[in-house]
Amino acid sequence: MVTVPATETTGYDDAVELLESTAEELNLRDDVLLLLRRPHRELHVQVPVRMDDGSVSVFSGIRVQHNGARGPYKGGVRFHPEADLDEVRTLASLMTWKCALVDVPFGGAKGGVQCDPAQLSVSELNRVTRRYTQNIAHLIGINRDIPAPDMGTNAQTMAWMMDAYGQLEGYTPGIVTGKPVALGGSLGREAATGRGVVLVLQQLCRDLGRDPKTQSVAVQGFGNVGSWAARIADEAGFPVVAVSDITGATYDETGLDITAVMNHVNDGGLVSEFPGASAITNEELLSLPCDVLIPAANGDAITTANCDNVRADIIIEAANHPLTTEADDALTQRGTLIVPDILANAGGVIVSYFEWTQNIQQFRWEEKQVNGELATRITQAYRSVSDLSRERRIPMRRGAYLLAVKRVAEAITMRGFV
Ligand code: NAD
Repeated sequence: MVTVPATETTGYDDAVELLESTAEELNLRDDVLLLLRRPHRELHVQVPVRMDDGSVSVFSGIRVQHNGARGPYKGGVRFHPEADLDEVRTLASLMTWKCALVDVPFGGAKGGVQCDPAQLSVSELNRVTRRYTQNIAHLIGINRDIPAPDMGTNAQTMAWMMDAYGQLEGYTPGIVTGKPVALGGSLGREAATGRGVVLVLQQLCRDLGRDPKTQSVAVQGFGNVGSWAARIADEAGFPVVAVSDITGATYDETGLDITAVMNHVNDGGLVSEFPGASAITNEELLSLPCDVLIPAANGDAITTANCDNVRADIIIEAANHPLTTEADDALTQRGTLIVPDILANAGGVIVSYFEWTQNIQQFRWEEKQVNGELATRITQAYRSVSDLSRERRIPMRRGAYLLAVKRVAEAITMRGFV
């Protein structure tokens, strides 16, 4: 496990620094910047839960609404021991920029419960989810704030959230996205973030004149985002040479059979114990001699302590904030092409938007339509970031922030917030 060197800033400090430098370049009004520097609303709740052994544990729950100028707040709920206020604030601000960049009519939010889902039984997780939902219910709503899955949560968690909210307010499937399809979830939502990651990678390869068959890919994290990114990259012809979960990684320089790895994991196996390939550590995965690295796990996975070891010359940020600012600067100076999180992993929120609209209209789209509209939107966003970056000779992250912050600032001004 990587620890961030003490000299490196992480989390919300980084987010504010990036916002401020973007605001300067955009010549943003001081009052607008003041509004954007801090989240609009932060709620901390206790989440007391009766455990299976009869004892009571009190978890810490948070919902942060960063900015709602462009629409209802939108953002995932993370169940993780490190989901503290700083982390959730950072993720909420990323959602504001992400939604603006891909032009979906949402503001940015995020939620978290500080717990380790791996240590909780299914019935304990159900009770944690219900109590957290009840305690934030007065802040969320189909036109106010719509949660979704993130690390440590999934479609089942969203089903429990929808049910707990429905007990208070009546049947409201549009209160969450990323639900099971049988409860009003959208076809294509589960794969959407990973699919968006690969769509962006394909566009980039096209621009660089690189043939996917020659581009070896390593994916850190084999949860929702990582496993779908690996599977879709494999289907698109990229040799996926390594994948990992928190316990370790598996590597085959000729390319893994990702469907077989999925089956092995679904049968309860560890990624690192996949037969027929070599077990390596997560640190070794990050430094493999591959062309494309896709961090799809935790934040701050790549820091100045390990960025010199990264050999891939393309990084697609499937995770949120997988690079510290210092590591980002060092790698950019070395010429590594980094596709920023607010573009690379926006497929999830794009299809969440489709799910929300389907719930409101009480109508279901075919999966082909979902995937087609996702491709159109994320490709458009990629094009505008890529064109601006090339025109101004700036990294893609800078280009993405210039576009996103400008849109949010325009909405703030037009609505007369300030
Ligand atoms: P998940 O809980 O489904 O999976 C996380 C995976 O990362 C697991 O395989 C876990 O074992 C692995 N992991 C955790 N810590 C690790 C470590 N230190 N080293 C290596 N592997 C580690 O989570 P997810 O939904 O796939 O989210 C992954 C990332 O993508 C997060 O940063 C999340 O914010 C971001 N994201 C998710 C979505 C979404 O739709 N789920 C959308 C946008 C962004």
